[in-house]
Amino acid sequence: MSILVTGGAGYIGSHAAVELLKTGYDIVIVDNLSNSNFESINRVKELTGKEFPFYKCDLLDRDELNTIFENHNFEAVMHFAGLKAVGESVEIPLMYYHNNITGTINLCDLMAKHDVKKLVFSSSATVYGHPDSVPIDESFPLSATNPYGRTKLMIEDILRDLYISDSTWRIALLRYFNPIGAHESGRIGENPNGIPNNLMPYITQVAIGKREKLSVFGNDYETHDGTGVRDFIHVIDLVKGHLKALKFLDKNKGIETFNLGTGTGYSVMDLINAFSTINSKAIPYQFVDRRPGDIAICYANPTKAEKVLGWRAEKDLNEMCKDSWKWQTDNPNGYEQKVLVQS
Ligand code: NAD
Ligand code: UDP
Repeated sequence: MSILVTGGAGYIGSHAAVELLKTGYDIVIVDNLSNSNFESINRVKELTGKEFPFYKCDLLDRDELNTIFENHNFEAVMHFAGLKAVGESVEIPLMYYHNNITGTINLCDLMAKHDVKKLVFSSSATVYGHPDSVPIDESFPLSATNPYGRTKLMIEDILRDLYISDSTWRIALLRYFNPIGAHESGRIGENPNGIPNNLMPYITQVAIGKREKLSVFGNDYETHDGTGVRDFIHVIDLVKGHLKALKFLDKNKGIETFNLGTGTGYSVMDLINAFSTINSKAIPYQFVDRRPGDIAICYANPTKAEKVLGWRAEKDLNEMCKDSWKWQTDNPNGYEQKVLVQS
């Protein structure tokens, strides 16, 4: 029996793969490598000393995915595969709806066909839209402000309907807050394509000299220093939450939602300052206008995950900054190897 990890070549999926293998699970990874690099698979094997099957397969290719289900005996699925860039989702919404939603429907349909009814799904705090207050708990009203967020909300609804139609499903909807950091070895980490959309990869690229300075989007929010506040969570803590969710599903039928956050909000300036101090690296920045669609403050109430799953985030902001920087400095070009041309 093994765990199918969709999107396992990506940022969070590769860290989950390491944690699953370390804990003794067998895994199979499926990824179309649309936003990742095969090198991450090599690194997961190197870090764990374990082998596992990898399929370069698109969740939209139902026949190929079906063959994978026929060839393996899965006990559960961790479903990370999806497109995640908010701005891009506004530009090419149909692509996002097709990839994320059709991909998930194919996956669930094949899970049902092969009687694999345990699913851990990567949702997002974006499903809370513009929350009225913080900290945010799982009972807050849901809404979406962009196509990416709508795919997460729609998938959550689809999965809730799926459970209503067949109560033998066991589903965990994990709403991530802001994952940052990397494996402490510096061998796997976040590998953004082109200009990073997210704050931490932008900071590390400024720190290493790839970008001139960070634009801080807005310093007139009603927060302690005027910059946006988020719940940054170390990716290793985040993936440990997935393993706890898997254990929970072993014992419980139904569909349950969990916030995965630390419960503490730090501002953009807090993160810049922590990064500069712990890594002795100044981050040039400038204040610019707010980014459309951004909210002022977002952090979790993680009590449910603590009570029900026995999980809480343990790593602090300094560790997140240290590990992100180690990943960046050890891999200045991410997983892309520099080609040395001999003259
Ligand atoms: P990522 O882009 O690094 O990983 C996603 C992986 O899925 C990539 O390797 C990509 O190639 C693969 N993929 C995409 N579409 C596919 C398809 N149709 N078939 C097969 N593979 C496909 O992203 P990540 O940061 O690791 O995020 C993982 C999941 O967590 C995503 O669903 C994302 O929406 C969600 N999430 C991420 C964050 C975050 O800040 N990183 C926050 C909340 C939720
Ligand atoms: N941010 C910023 N400059 C950047 C990227 C992000 O000031 O180049 C801010 C953004 O406005 C938000 C916070 O950093 O307040 C986190 O943004 P990110 O895109 O990482 O995650 P989000 O919370 O939007 O999902």
